[in-house]
Amino acid sequence: MECKFCGLDFDPKIRFQKYCSEKCRVSAWKKKRNKIKVGVIYCERCGTEIVRKNATRFCSTKCYMINAMKERRKSYESIKKKDLAGKKSRSLISRMKTEGRK
Ligand SMILES: [Zn+2]
Ligand SMILES: [Zn+2]
Repeated sequence: MECKFCGLDFDPKIRFQKYCSEKCRVSAWKKKRNKIKVGVIYCERCGTEIVRKNATRFCSTKCYMINAMKERRKSYESIKKKDLAGKKSRSLISRMKTEGRK
């Protein structure tokens, strides 16, 4: 078995072991994580250019919070809309029933 990080030949102690040692596993994980870090992205809310330090999509906590609030409101409104549609169809059904009685 060849270590996916350093290429060293090793005997895997457990099945699907990809790395020769804990050190290699951690290093590989860090390298993978670092890949996300690199690069300039734009804040999803205000478009400010930011150098990404972590998995964030926003330039600041403020932008993150505003977006989170917006998304929460959006999901709340979609629930409300569904609720409203349900009421409408229910009243339509009851109206049809009363009209049918005539
Ligand atoms: Zn290794
Ligand atoms: Zn922003």
